[in-house]
Amino acid sequence: MIVETQRGIAEKSQEIWRHFLAARTTMVANLNPPRAAASATGLSISRAVEALEPSATIAMAGKARQLKTAGKTVYDFSLGEPDFTTPEHICAAAAAAMKAGHTHYTAAGGIAELKAAVARQYKERHGLEYAPEQVVIANGAKHALHNAFTALCDPGDEVIIPAPYWVSYAEQVKLAGGKPVIVETEEAADFKLQPEQLRAAITPRAKILLICSPSNPTGSMYSPEELGKLADVVLEAGLGVVADEIYERLVYGQNRFVSFATVRPGLAERTVLVNGVSKSYAMTGWRIGWTMSPAPLAKAFDNLQSQETSNPSSISQYAALAALTGPQQCVDTMLAEFARRREFVRARIARLPDVTCTQMSGAFYAFINIGAHLGRTYGGVRVDNSAQWCLELLSQQNVATVMGSAFGAEGYARLSFATSMQNLEAGLERIEAFLKSAT
Ligand code: PMP
Ligand code: GLU
Repeated sequence: MIVETQRGIAEKSQEIWRHFLAARTTMVANLNPPRAAASATGLSISRAVEALEPSATIAMAGKARQLKTAGKTVYDFSLGEPDFTTPEHICAAAAAAMKAGHTHYTAAGGIAELKAAVARQYKERHGLEYAPEQVVIANGAKHALHNAFTALCDPGDEVIIPAPYWVSYAEQVKLAGGKPVIVETEEAADFKLQPEQLRAAITPRAKILLICSPSNPTGSMYSPEELGKLADVVLEAGLGVVADEIYERLVYGQNRFVSFATVRPGLAERTVLVNGVSKSYAMTGWRIGWTMSPAPLAKAFDNLQSQETSNPSSISQYAALAALTGPQQCVDTMLAEFARRREFVRARIARLPDVTCTQMSGAFYAFINIGAHLGRTYGGVRVDNSAQWCLELLSQQNVATVMGSAFGAEGYARLSFATSMQNLEAGLERIEAFLKSAT
Protein backbone atom coordinates (compact mmCIF):
# COMPACT_ATOMS: atom_id res chain seq x y z
CA MET A 1 0.00 0.00 0.00
CA ILE A 2 2.79 2.39 1.04
CA VAL A 3 4.83 1.23 -1.96
CA GLU A 4 1.81 1.81 -4.22
CA THR A 5 1.39 5.34 -2.86
CA GLN A 6 5.09 6.07 -3.25
CA ARG A 7 4.94 4.86 -6.87
CA GLY A 8 1.91 7.09 -7.45
CA ILE A 9 3.71 10.12 -6.02
CA ALA A 10 6.80 9.39 -8.09
CA GLU A 11 4.71 9.09 -11.26
CA LYS A 12 2.81 12.24 -10.46
CA SER A 13 5.98 14.20 -9.81
CA GLN A 14 7.49 12.89 -13.07
CA GLU A 15 4.40 13.99 -14.90
CA ILE A 16 4.60 17.45 -13.34
CA TRP A 17 8.27 17.57 -14.26
CA ARG A 18 7.46 16.64 -17.91
CA HIS A 19 4.79 19.36 -18.03
CA PHE A 20 7.26 21.82 -16.58
CA LEU A 21 9.91 20.90 -19.17
CA ALA A 22 7.42 21.15 -22.02
CA ALA A 23 6.19 24.54 -20.80
CA ARG A 24 9.76 25.75 -20.39
CA THR A 25 10.71 24.60 -23.89
CA THR A 26 7.72 26.44 -25.35
CA MET A 27 8.56 29.52 -23.35
CA VAL A 28 12.20 29.50 -24.43
CA ALA A 29 11.16 28.85 -28.04
CA ASN A 30 8.84 31.86 -27.87
CA LEU A 31 11.61 33.97 -26.43
CA ASN A 32 14.07 32.76 -29.05
CA PRO A 33 12.06 32.06 -32.18
CA PRO A 34 14.36 30.32 -34.67
CA ARG A 35 15.06 32.39 -37.78
CA ALA A 36 14.67 29.76 -40.46
CA ALA A 37 16.78 31.05 -43.35
CA ALA A 38 19.76 32.19 -41.38
CA SER A 39 19.93 29.22 -39.02
CA ALA A 40 20.33 26.86 -41.98
CA THR A 41 23.91 28.05 -42.43
CA GLY A 42 24.66 28.56 -38.74
CA LEU A 43 25.48 32.19 -39.50
CA SER A 44 22.34 33.86 -38.23
CA ILE A 45 22.81 37.54 -37.51
CA SER A 46 22.38 38.58 -33.90
CA ARG A 47 19.09 40.26 -33.07
CA ALA A 48 20.87 43.41 -31.94
CA VAL A 49 22.62 43.87 -35.26
CA GLU A 50 19.66 42.75 -37.31
CA ALA A 51 17.59 45.48 -35.66
CA LEU A 52 20.17 48.13 -36.55
CA GLU A 53 19.13 50.86 -39.01
CA PRO A 54 21.88 51.65 -41.51
CA SER A 55 23.22 55.20 -41.23
CA ALA A 56 20.98 57.25 -43.54
CA THR A 57 23.60 59.97 -43.98
CA ILE A 58 26.10 57.44 -45.24
CA ALA A 59 23.44 55.65 -47.32
CA MET A 60 22.41 58.88 -49.09
CA ALA A 61 26.06 59.78 -49.69
CA GLY A 62 26.48 56.28 -51.18
CA LYS A 63 23.57 56.84 -53.56
CA ALA A 64 25.03 60.19 -54.63
CA ARG A 65 28.43 58.54 -55.18
CA GLN A 66 26.85 55.84 -57.37
CA LEU A 67 25.28 58.49 -59.61
CA LYS A 68 28.59 60.38 -59.81
CA THR A 69 30.37 57.16 -60.79
CA ALA A 70 27.76 56.66 -63.50
CA GLY A 71 28.87 60.03 -64.92
CA LYS A 72 26.06 62.25 -63.56
CA THR A 73 26.67 65.70 -62.08
CA VAL A 74 25.31 65.48 -58.56
CA TYR A 75 24.68 68.43 -56.23
CA ASP A 76 25.62 66.64 -53.10
CA PHE A 77 24.30 68.09 -49.83
CA SER A 78 24.12 64.72 -48.11
CA LEU A 79 27.19 64.15 -45.98
CA GLY A 80 28.26 66.45 -43.19
CA GLU A 81 31.93 66.67 -43.90
CA PRO A 82 34.09 69.66 -44.73
CA ASP A 83 34.97 69.77 -48.42
CA PHE A 84 38.39 71.32 -47.66
CA THR A 85 41.53 69.22 -47.75
CA THR A 86 43.28 68.74 -44.45
CA PRO A 87 45.66 71.69 -43.85
CA GLU A 88 49.16 71.15 -45.17
CA HIS A 89 51.03 71.37 -41.84
CA ILE A 90 48.83 68.54 -40.48
CA CYS A 91 49.54 66.29 -43.48
CA ALA A 92 53.25 67.11 -43.13
CA ALA A 93 53.17 66.04 -39.46
CA ALA A 94 51.64 62.70 -40.48
CA ALA A 95 54.37 62.14 -43.08
CA ALA A 96 57.03 63.06 -40.52
CA ALA A 97 55.48 60.63 -38.01
CA MET A 98 55.70 57.79 -40.52
CA LYS A 99 59.32 58.61 -41.30
CA ALA A 100 60.14 58.82 -37.61
CA GLY A 101 58.85 55.26 -37.16
CA HIS A 102 55.58 56.05 -35.39
CA THR A 103 54.05 53.16 -37.26
CA HIS A 104 53.45 50.77 -34.37
CA TYR A 105 50.74 50.10 -31.85
CA THR A 106 50.34 52.86 -29.32
CA ALA A 107 48.63 52.65 -25.93
CA ALA A 108 45.03 51.55 -26.60
CA GLY A 109 43.61 54.88 -25.44
CA GLY A 110 46.07 57.01 -27.42
CA ILE A 111 49.51 58.60 -27.15
CA ALA A 112 50.26 60.63 -24.04
CA GLU A 113 51.16 63.77 -26.03
CA LEU A 114 47.78 63.87 -27.76
CA LYS A 115 45.86 63.26 -24.53
CA ALA A 116 47.81 66.08 -22.92
CA ALA A 117 47.13 68.37 -25.92
CA VAL A 118 43.38 67.66 -25.74
CA ALA A 119 43.34 68.37 -21.99
CA ARG A 120 45.34 71.57 -22.53
CA GLN A 121 42.98 72.77 -25.25
CA TYR A 122 39.94 72.30 -22.99
CA LYS A 123 41.75 74.12 -20.19
CA GLU A 124 42.66 77.05 -22.47
CA ARG A 125 39.34 77.29 -24.27
CA HIS A 126 36.92 76.44 -21.46
CA GLY A 127 38.85 76.61 -18.19
CA LEU A 128 38.15 72.92 -17.56
CA GLU A 129 40.76 70.92 -15.66
CA TYR A 130 41.19 67.39 -17.00
CA ALA A 131 44.19 65.15 -16.40
CA PRO A 132 45.52 63.45 -19.55
CA GLU A 133 44.35 60.08 -18.11
CA GLN A 134 40.79 61.34 -18.35
CA VAL A 135 41.12 61.65 -22.11
CA VAL A 136 40.62 58.55 -24.28
CA ILE A 137 41.49 58.90 -27.96
CA ALA A 138 39.11 56.89 -30.16
CA ASN A 139 38.60 56.16 -33.86
CA GLY A 140 36.52 59.29 -34.42
CA ALA A 141 33.85 60.88 -32.27
CA LYS A 142 31.42 58.21 -33.49
CA HIS A 143 33.55 55.55 -31.85
CA ALA A 144 33.97 57.72 -28.76
CA LEU A 145 30.16 57.82 -28.48
CA HIS A 146 29.98 54.07 -28.93
CA ASN A 147 32.47 53.65 -26.08
CA ALA A 148 30.37 55.93 -23.90
CA PHE A 149 27.04 54.17 -24.49
CA THR A 150 28.57 50.70 -24.24
CA ALA A 151 30.29 51.46 -20.97
CA LEU A 152 27.30 53.27 -19.48
CA CYS A 153 24.24 51.26 -20.47
CA ASP A 154 22.98 48.19 -18.69
CA PRO A 155 19.97 46.48 -20.29
CA GLY A 156 16.98 48.80 -20.11
CA ASP A 157 18.89 51.89 -18.99
CA GLU A 158 17.28 54.90 -20.60
CA VAL A 159 19.10 57.52 -22.60
CA ILE A 160 17.09 60.67 -23.24
CA ILE A 161 17.69 61.92 -26.78
CA PRO A 162 16.11 65.17 -27.99
CA ALA A 163 14.79 64.91 -31.57
CA PRO A 164 15.75 65.86 -34.22
CA TYR A 165 18.88 63.87 -33.41
CA TRP A 166 21.96 62.76 -35.28
CA VAL A 167 21.36 59.36 -36.90
CA SER A 168 23.76 57.27 -34.81
CA TYR A 169 22.77 58.07 -31.22
CA ALA A 170 19.65 55.94 -30.85
CA GLU A 171 21.13 53.03 -32.80
CA GLN A 172 24.29 53.00 -30.69
CA VAL A 173 22.23 53.11 -27.49
CA LYS A 174 20.16 50.12 -28.66
CA LEU A 175 23.28 48.24 -29.64
CA ALA A 176 24.61 48.78 -26.13
CA GLY A 177 21.38 47.30 -24.68
CA GLY A 178 20.05 50.66 -23.55
CA LYS A 179 16.70 52.20 -24.37
CA PRO A 180 16.56 55.46 -26.33
CA VAL A 181 13.86 57.78 -25.02
CA ILE A 182 13.15 60.24 -27.79
CA VAL A 183 11.81 63.64 -26.82
CA GLU A 184 10.49 65.71 -29.70
CA THR A 185 11.41 69.37 -29.70
CA GLU A 186 9.58 72.16 -31.53
CA GLU A 187 10.73 74.09 -34.57
CA ALA A 188 9.26 77.18 -32.87
CA ALA A 189 11.66 76.59 -29.97
CA ASP A 190 14.57 76.37 -32.43
CA PHE A 191 14.52 72.60 -31.83
CA LYS A 192 15.82 73.02 -28.29
CA LEU A 193 14.86 70.72 -25.46
CA GLN A 194 12.96 72.62 -22.77
CA PRO A 195 13.70 71.94 -19.08
CA GLU A 196 10.07 70.87 -18.46
CA GLN A 197 10.24 68.42 -21.36
CA LEU A 198 13.38 66.93 -19.87
CA ARG A 199 11.76 66.68 -16.45
CA ALA A 200 8.71 64.92 -17.92
CA ALA A 201 10.90 62.37 -19.72
CA ILE A 202 12.68 61.20 -16.58
CA THR A 203 11.58 57.78 -15.33
CA PRO A 204 13.20 55.64 -12.62
CA ARG A 205 15.23 53.97 -15.41
CA ALA A 206 16.53 57.28 -16.85
CA LYS A 207 20.29 57.35 -16.74
CA ILE A 208 21.78 59.65 -19.38
CA LEU A 209 20.84 62.84 -21.22
CA LEU A 210 22.39 63.16 -24.66
CA ILE A 211 22.99 66.73 -25.70
CA CYS A 212 24.42 67.90 -29.03
CA SER A 213 25.10 71.61 -29.37
CA PRO A 214 25.66 73.00 -31.98
CA SER A 215 23.28 70.43 -33.37
CA ASN A 216 23.46 68.03 -36.24
CA PRO A 217 20.95 68.09 -38.00
CA THR A 218 19.32 71.42 -37.07
CA GLY A 219 22.26 73.80 -36.54
CA SER A 220 20.56 75.06 -33.39
CA MET A 221 22.62 75.87 -30.36
CA TYR A 222 21.82 76.31 -26.68
CA SER A 223 22.81 79.55 -24.98
CA PRO A 224 24.79 79.22 -21.72
CA GLU A 225 21.59 80.13 -19.82
CA GLU A 226 19.57 77.44 -21.59
CA LEU A 227 22.24 74.85 -20.88
CA GLY A 228 22.24 75.98 -17.26
CA LYS A 229 18.50 75.34 -16.95
CA LEU A 230 18.87 71.84 -18.40
CA ALA A 231 21.81 71.27 -16.07
CA ASP A 232 19.62 72.14 -13.08
CA VAL A 233 17.24 69.32 -14.02
CA VAL A 234 20.18 66.97 -14.60
CA LEU A 235 21.59 67.73 -11.16
CA GLU A 236 18.17 67.52 -9.48
CA ALA A 237 17.50 64.09 -11.04
CA GLY A 238 21.04 62.77 -10.71
CA LEU A 239 21.37 62.05 -14.42
CA GLY A 240 24.61 61.52 -16.30
CA VAL A 241 25.24 63.46 -19.52
CA VAL A 242 26.90 62.67 -22.81
CA ALA A 243 27.67 66.03 -24.46
CA ASP A 244 28.61 65.83 -28.13
CA GLU A 245 30.63 69.00 -28.77
CA ILE A 246 32.04 68.05 -32.17
CA TYR A 247 30.78 71.31 -33.76
CA GLU A 248 32.28 73.47 -31.03
CA ARG A 249 34.43 75.54 -33.41
CA LEU A 250 31.71 76.00 -36.05
CA VAL A 251 29.64 78.76 -34.51
CA TYR A 252 28.28 81.82 -36.34
CA GLY A 253 27.49 85.45 -35.59
CA GLN A 254 26.95 86.43 -31.98
CA ASN A 255 26.48 82.87 -30.77
CA ARG A 256 28.91 81.73 -28.12
CA PHE A 257 29.84 78.13 -27.45
CA VAL A 258 30.22 76.98 -23.87
CA SER A 259 31.06 73.42 -22.89
CA PHE A 260 28.17 71.74 -21.08
CA ALA A 261 30.48 70.68 -18.25
CA THR A 262 31.12 74.32 -17.31
CA VAL A 263 27.60 75.65 -16.85
CA ARG A 264 27.10 74.55 -13.24
CA PRO A 265 29.50 73.38 -10.54
CA GLY A 266 29.56 69.60 -10.20
CA LEU A 267 28.65 68.87 -13.80
CA ALA A 268 32.05 67.70 -15.02
CA GLU A 269 31.82 64.77 -12.58
CA ARG A 270 28.65 63.54 -14.30
CA THR A 271 29.47 64.40 -17.91
CA VAL A 272 31.22 62.64 -20.76
CA LEU A 273 32.44 65.21 -23.29
CA VAL A 274 32.81 64.00 -26.86
CA ASN A 275 34.82 65.87 -29.45
CA GLY A 276 37.32 65.31 -32.26
CA VAL A 277 39.23 66.77 -35.19
CA SER A 278 36.91 65.73 -38.06
CA LYS A 279 34.90 68.91 -38.40
CA SER A 280 37.16 71.67 -37.06
CA TYR A 281 40.27 70.65 -39.01
CA ALA A 282 38.70 68.94 -42.06
CA MET A 283 40.02 65.58 -40.90
CA THR A 284 37.04 63.24 -41.32
CA GLY A 285 39.10 60.49 -42.94
CA TRP A 286 41.79 60.42 -40.26
CA ARG A 287 39.34 59.02 -37.69
CA ILE A 288 40.37 60.74 -34.49
CA GLY A 289 37.91 61.72 -31.75
CA TRP A 290 37.91 61.47 -27.98
CA THR A 291 36.04 61.41 -24.72
CA MET A 292 36.85 63.38 -21.60
CA SER A 293 35.27 61.97 -18.51
CA PRO A 294 35.73 61.16 -14.83
CA ALA A 295 38.80 58.94 -14.38
CA PRO A 296 37.05 55.60 -13.57
CA LEU A 297 34.95 55.92 -16.69
CA ALA A 298 38.00 56.82 -18.78
CA LYS A 299 39.61 53.62 -17.48
CA ALA A 300 36.50 51.69 -18.57
CA PHE A 301 36.64 53.22 -22.08
CA ASP A 302 40.32 52.36 -22.24
CA ASN A 303 39.64 48.74 -21.26
CA LEU A 304 36.82 48.48 -23.77
CA GLN A 305 38.99 49.87 -26.52
CA SER A 306 41.88 47.58 -25.58
CA GLN A 307 39.61 44.62 -26.36
CA GLU A 308 37.63 46.02 -29.27
CA THR A 309 39.88 48.08 -31.53
CA SER A 310 43.21 48.78 -29.81
CA ASN A 311 44.63 52.21 -30.59
CA PRO A 312 43.39 54.53 -33.33
CA SER A 313 45.92 54.87 -36.18
CA SER A 314 49.28 56.00 -34.77
CA ILE A 315 49.86 58.26 -37.79
CA SER A 316 46.47 59.93 -37.44
CA GLN A 317 47.18 60.56 -33.78
CA TYR A 318 50.35 62.49 -34.67
CA ALA A 319 48.38 64.40 -37.30
CA ALA A 320 45.74 65.30 -34.69
CA LEU A 321 48.50 66.39 -32.33
CA ALA A 322 49.77 68.79 -35.01
CA ALA A 323 46.20 70.02 -35.54
CA LEU A 324 45.72 70.87 -31.86
CA THR A 325 49.17 72.28 -31.17
CA GLY A 326 49.92 73.95 -34.53
CA PRO A 327 48.63 77.21 -36.03
CA GLN A 328 44.87 77.66 -35.60
CA GLN A 329 44.41 80.10 -38.47
CA CYS A 330 43.13 77.24 -40.67
CA VAL A 331 40.11 76.76 -38.38
CA ASP A 332 39.16 80.42 -38.71
CA THR A 333 39.67 80.41 -42.47
CA MET A 334 37.33 77.42 -42.89
CA LEU A 335 34.84 78.93 -40.46
CA ALA A 336 34.78 82.18 -42.47
CA GLU A 337 33.97 80.21 -45.62
CA PHE A 338 31.24 78.22 -43.85
CA ALA A 339 29.81 81.49 -42.55
CA ARG A 340 29.69 82.91 -46.09
CA ARG A 341 27.88 79.80 -47.35
CA ARG A 342 25.48 79.88 -44.42
CA GLU A 343 24.49 83.45 -45.28
CA PHE A 344 23.90 82.45 -48.87
CA VAL A 345 21.91 79.32 -47.94
CA ARG A 346 19.81 81.24 -45.44
CA ALA A 347 18.89 83.93 -47.96
CA ARG A 348 18.26 81.37 -50.72
CA ILE A 349 16.05 79.15 -48.56
CA ALA A 350 14.03 82.21 -47.55
CA ARG A 351 13.10 82.57 -51.23
CA LEU A 352 11.93 78.94 -51.60
CA PRO A 353 8.13 78.65 -51.68
CA ASP A 354 6.50 77.43 -48.43
CA VAL A 355 9.71 76.19 -46.82
CA THR A 356 10.83 77.25 -43.35
CA CYS A 357 14.20 76.91 -41.70
CA THR A 358 15.54 77.86 -38.29
CA GLN A 359 18.50 80.16 -37.82
CA MET A 360 21.50 77.76 -38.10
CA SER A 361 23.57 79.09 -35.22
CA GLY A 362 26.32 76.52 -35.66
CA ALA A 363 27.48 73.37 -37.52
CA PHE A 364 26.92 73.28 -41.30
CA TYR A 365 23.38 72.08 -41.83
CA ALA A 366 20.09 73.61 -42.95
CA PHE A 367 17.13 71.58 -41.69
CA ILE A 368 14.28 72.64 -43.91
CA ASN A 369 10.61 72.13 -43.21
CA ILE A 370 9.09 70.62 -46.36
CA GLY A 371 5.82 69.62 -44.71
CA ALA A 372 3.78 71.87 -47.04
CA HIS A 373 5.17 70.04 -50.06
CA LEU A 374 4.26 66.50 -49.05
CA GLY A 375 1.19 64.77 -50.44
CA ARG A 376 1.94 66.33 -53.86
CA THR A 377 3.02 64.81 -57.18
CA TYR A 378 6.46 65.38 -58.63
CA GLY A 379 7.07 64.34 -62.24
CA GLY A 380 4.11 61.96 -61.97
CA VAL A 381 5.22 60.46 -58.64
CA ARG A 382 3.20 61.08 -55.49
CA VAL A 383 5.41 61.97 -52.53
CA ASP A 384 4.02 61.46 -49.05
CA ASN A 385 7.03 61.58 -46.77
CA SER A 386 10.51 63.01 -46.41
CA ALA A 387 12.26 59.83 -47.58
CA GLN A 388 10.26 59.79 -50.82
CA TRP A 389 10.83 63.52 -51.25
CA CYS A 390 14.62 63.16 -50.92
CA LEU A 391 14.74 60.15 -53.25
CA GLU A 392 12.66 61.90 -55.93
CA LEU A 393 14.75 65.06 -55.57
CA LEU A 394 17.83 62.93 -56.17
CA SER A 395 16.44 61.02 -59.12
CA GLN A 396 14.68 63.97 -60.80
CA GLN A 397 17.15 66.78 -60.07
CA ASN A 398 20.38 65.04 -59.01
CA VAL A 399 20.35 66.82 -55.66
CA ALA A 400 21.30 64.68 -52.66
CA THR A 401 19.89 65.57 -49.23
CA VAL A 402 18.95 63.46 -46.19
CA MET A 403 15.38 62.74 -45.12
CA GLY A 404 14.21 64.21 -41.83
CA SER A 405 12.75 60.85 -40.78
CA ALA A 406 16.31 59.53 -40.33
CA PHE A 407 16.79 62.23 -37.68
CA GLY A 408 13.48 61.51 -35.98
CA ALA A 409 11.68 64.42 -37.68
CA GLU A 410 9.27 63.56 -40.48
CA GLY A 411 8.44 66.45 -42.80
CA TYR A 412 11.98 67.83 -42.95
CA ALA A 413 15.10 67.42 -45.06
CA ARG A 414 18.70 68.13 -44.15
CA LEU A 415 21.06 69.99 -46.46
CA SER A 416 24.73 70.05 -45.60
CA PHE A 417 26.36 73.28 -46.75
CA ALA A 418 29.85 71.85 -46.35
CA THR A 419 30.16 71.98 -50.11
CA SER A 420 31.27 74.57 -52.66
CA MET A 421 29.34 77.79 -53.28
CA GLN A 422 28.96 76.77 -56.90
CA ASN A 423 27.26 73.51 -55.86
CA LEU A 424 25.05 75.35 -53.40
CA GLU A 425 23.94 77.88 -56.00
CA ALA A 426 23.13 75.28 -58.64
CA GLY A 427 21.66 72.74 -56.19
CA LEU A 428 19.31 75.25 -54.58
CA GLU A 429 18.12 76.38 -58.01
CA ARG A 430 17.24 72.75 -58.67
CA ILE A 431 15.46 72.38 -55.33
CA GLU A 432 13.37 75.40 -56.24
CA ALA A 433 12.58 73.95 -59.67
CA PHE A 434 11.64 70.64 -57.99
CA LEU A 435 9.29 72.34 -55.53
CA LYS A 436 7.67 74.36 -58.28
CA SER A 437 7.19 71.28 -60.45
CA ALA A 438 4.84 69.70 -57.90
CA THR A 439 1.13 69.51 -58.59
N1 PMP B 1 28.66 63.59 -33.67
C1 PMP B 1 28.01 64.32 -34.59
C2 PMP B 1 26.88 65.18 -34.14
C3 PMP B 1 28.38 64.26 -35.94
O1 PMP B 1 27.72 64.99 -36.84
C4 PMP B 1 29.42 63.42 -36.31
C5 PMP B 1 29.79 63.35 -37.78
N2 PMP B 1 29.93 62.13 -38.30
C6 PMP B 1 30.07 62.68 -35.31
C7 PMP B 1 29.65 62.78 -34.01
C8 PMP B 1 31.18 61.73 -35.61
O2 PMP B 1 32.32 62.35 -36.11
P1 PMP B 1 33.65 61.55 -36.39
O3 PMP B 1 33.39 60.12 -36.08
O4 PMP B 1 33.98 61.80 -37.80
O5 PMP B 1 34.67 62.14 -35.46
N1 GLU C 1 28.26 63.40 -39.29
C1 GLU C 1 28.15 63.39 -40.70
C2 GLU C 1 26.71 63.49 -41.12
O1 GLU C 1 25.84 63.55 -40.30
C3 GLU C 1 28.90 62.27 -41.35
C4 GLU C 1 28.17 60.99 -41.62
C5 GLU C 1 27.96 60.15 -40.41
O2 GLU C 1 28.94 59.76 -39.78
O3 GLU C 1 26.80 59.93 -40.10
O4 GLU C 1 26.47 63.55 -42.28
